Amino acid sequence: MTDERAERAALIQFATKIIEAGRDGDVGVEDVHEWATEAGLLIPEQRVVPCDDGEACVCAEYTDEGDTVTCYRLCAALLRAGTPEGET
Ligand SMILES: [Zn+2]
Repeated sequence: MTDERAERAALIQFATKIIEAGRDGDVGVEDVHEWATEAGLLIPEQRVVPCDDGEACVCAEYTDEGDTVTCYRLCAALLRAGTPEGET
């Protein structure tokens, strides 16, 4: 499979999970992280200090410094596409 086809398959897998869960009306950030990780869209890394890298991750926004935190890094395709808030 080409990179482009693999990326498309990952996005479809992730979108399907979101749509199905949306019908149940109960979707949390943990669900989104799990499904995006399964699809290869996010790459979890264990860190002691949040990365504070707002472009690629928001772990610094929901942890206290000193705690071990899972940092969900955007995959290469999503980094190329820009942040969810758009280009800065
Ligand atoms: Zn992070």
